[in-house]
Order: sequence, then structure tokens, then C-alpha cells
Amino acid sequence: MDKNQLLKKIRDAGVIGAGGAGFPAYKKLDARVDHIIANGAECEPLLYKDRETMIQAKEELFAGLEIMQNITGAKQVTIALKEKNRDVVKGFNEFITRYGFNTFINRDVYPAGDEYVLVYEITGKRIPPGGIPLQVGCVVNNTETIVNIARAVKDIPVTAKFITITGAVKNPLTTIVPVGISFDDCIQIAGGLTTEHPAVLTGGAMMGGVEFDLSLPITKTTGGLIILPDDHYLVKKKTAPQETYARIGHGQCDQCSMCTELCPRYLLGYPIEPHKVMRSLQMTGKAKERVSLWAQYCCECNICTFIACPEGLDPKSICVDAKKLLKENNLSRTEEELESLFHPVHPSRQAREVPIATVYQRLGLKAYDRHAPFVENHFMPEQVNISLNYHVGTPAVPVVKTGDRVKKGRVIGIVPEDQLGCPVHASIDGAVTRIDEREIQIKAN
Ligand code: SF4
Ligand code: SF4
Repeated sequence: MDKNQLLKKIRDAGVIGAGGAGFPAYKKLDARVDHIIANGAECEPLLYKDRETMIQAKEELFAGLEIMQNITGAKQVTIALKEKNRDVVKGFNEFITRYGFNTFINRDVYPAGDEYVLVYEITGKRIPPGGIPLQVGCVVNNTETIVNIARAVKDIPVTAKFITITGAVKNPLTTIVPVGISFDDCIQIAGGLTTEHPAVLTGGAMMGGVEFDLSLPITKTTGGLIILPDDHYLVKKKTAPQETYARIGHGQCDQCSMCTELCPRYLLGYPIEPHKVMRSLQMTGKAKERVSLWAQYCCECNICTFIACPEGLDPKSICVDAKKLLKENNLSRTEEELESLFHPVHPSRQAREVPIATVYQRLGLKAYDRHAPFVENHFMPEQVNISLNYHVGTPAVPVVKTGDRVKKGRVIGIVPEDQLGCPVHASIDGAVTRIDEREIQIKAN
């Protein structure tokens, strides 16, 4: 199969980044690169999804990497893991010899899985500010995305998802669920709740958002559900209204600059200084806009808010608001500014990395620090709600109508060939019962 045929299969199977923003994989791979990095360096606390993907689907992981190598011409392939998952490498030995790939084991620190960090650690190169790994000859994909690439080439579309379900549930576990299954069903798979008033952290304790509606569906990008009581510190902090965190920040920031001194992007030399962004709370107009530029390259890792700030303020949210302001006013650093502000890597960078044990302690998650082993489940959801708009690019347009009977794997939504995006597929057999601009509902037979 030539490169274009492989890319078409990857698009047709609906493969998007399984680790975050949901960028369509076919587009990312349509390039010549030197180095492919498989990102299995899951650094969010409590999640075991990448670990289990690498154990349960290792043959497909290596097959997917070989396919990516054929498409991109990469000379080097590295699988990145964290120290806590060193044992997983033992299972790779036979494949490592056969394929000639490398492994890289990073320290148990947060945020080890950030692609800027990963590319620097593995290649010594820094992605330009606001840039992508391709600019330094790399492509980085989450391990589950790579498994899905291998399946796509065998014409198996993405209809299921590795996921960790943990926190205030009876039996934390990592398992595979159909795309579109509800949070509620996932909680049942994990034995039910151990709290009466649940909140759900999606996408990780540090970077994820908070949801209270348990009928929401799992998408192709959901890596974990962390259930917590709704009065848990993390839930309260993440859901504080803008006027509250801005008012407290305005009154209490003493400009100690600890937020900047521990910021992983600042330590890599990028022009991001959250303590300066905090000054924007005292400003209006042009002055506010200028100082907001110090937030432009914030990756929203939350180190400043949850680990660094001795006053318990929320510099990350202030940075998010500052980035919104920049976007609304179409403002960014000039090339000249970037040239003078992109500094060498900080000499104390490694000494200032945040051990994962500190993250557990600061987030109040020690009580939930239980292993979530892989368990096969045979749960049959009564219905799934499949999102049409959860990847970067153009939303999919339904190609079924209410009442249609569909089989698992059938295309139910498409994106025109000339636009960025992927089709979506039915994840169970059943009948289409509802279609709106956001999702397609299928009820099981
Ligand atoms: S969230 Fe805070 S620590 Fe993380 S990149 Fe943004 S400013 Fe830096
Ligand atoms: S660490 Fe907290 S108090 Fe210190 S400058 Fe940053 S936001 Fe202000």
C-alpha cells in the first residue's frame, strides 16, 4: 500500500488523537519527519490508560509505529514511558529487537507527557514557541492513537476506547468501552459510586475539566474518569467562578514569582511568566493587553495553581483568561520579541521538576491512589451518544436518519474529503433514535 492509501484508511477509520485535542491522525502523518515518538508517558495522577494500552495491545502498537514509519520516512522511533511503568518494557523486548525501535524512560514527574517536554527530553530539540513537533522533525502520537492506526489499516474503525475509571468508585479499573457510552454506565462498570454527590474529572486531575452530568458520553479523546465527591478541594477549585478567583488574585498576589519559577514551559525557556500575568488583574486597556502576552504560551498544566502558589491563588485560570483576551484582540508576540525572549533552558530545570508524589499530596488524591488494573467487561449499554464534533477540524455531518438500523462499525457521519476531519462510526448495533447538531443517539437492539 502506498502512503496515500494508508492515509486514506486512517482517515476512513476515524482515527484522531486519543490523548487530548483530537487532531486527525491522517493529517499529522502527512509529512516527512526524522523521529516518531509514541507518547506513553502518562503523567496525570490515577490514570493507567496508556500503561494498559501498551500491555494489552503491544503488537498493534509496534505494527502502528511501523506503519507511521513507512508513511513519514522516519529513521528513528522511540516509545516514551515513565519510570513507574518500567516493567512494561520487559514485554517489549522481542518486538524491540524485531523492529529496531528505542524506548525512553522519563522520571516520575509532572508534566512528563507534555509533547514540548517529551521532544526536548528525547531529542534535545525545542519546539518553537507556539509551534508543533513537526517543526523539529518529530511526530508525537499517543499510544492508543498508534494502536488505532494499526487497526485502521486492517479496516477496523475506531468504535471503542481504553479508559481508566477511578476515584470514588467501588472497583477502580482500566477497560475498553464503546465510544458514546455514558459516564453513568462507566461508573456501573467500576462497581458503582462510593459518594452520594459525585463530580467527574475528565481528562485528568491536573488538566481536566469537571462535569456533574453523568449522562454525558465518552468520546474518542476521553482517557479517564476520576469521580470525586462534589465538595472535594479539586472540584471546588476548578469550578470557582471567574469573579472569585480574579478578586482573590487581585487582592492577594504578592508577586513572589513562585508560579513562574516552577512553570515547566518557563523552565524550558519559553516566554511565559505567570506572575507578570497576575499583574493584569490590576490593569485595563493596552497595559492589560501587553502584560497578557506573558500568558501566550501557557499549556494550562496547572503547576502554578496547584503546586507553586503559596497563597493558593489560581494563576493558571488568570492565564487562560489572558489568552482569551489576546485571541479576541488578535494579539501575539512579534518575531523580534520572540527572538529576544526565547531563552536557553533554565539550569535548574531538572531540580524544579515536580515529583508525582507531590502532585498526589497537593491535590488531595492520596485516599484515591489505588491501582486501576485492566479488566475486560461485558457491559452492554442500552444506548450510546456519538459526538459529531470532538476532533479538531470540521464537525461530521450525519449520513443516517432517525429510525435507521445500524451495525457496529457503520459510518454514521462524514466530513467532506477536502476538509480537515474524520468520519464517525456506530459503536454498537441498534437503531438511530435521535440526531442533532452535536451527536447521534443509537439505542441497542
Ligand atoms: S498553567 Fe501555569 S505552570 Fe503551567 S504552563 Fe501555564 S503558567 Fe506555566
Ligand atoms: S505564586 Fe501566587 S502569590 Fe506568587 S506571584 Fe504567583 S500568583 Fe502571585
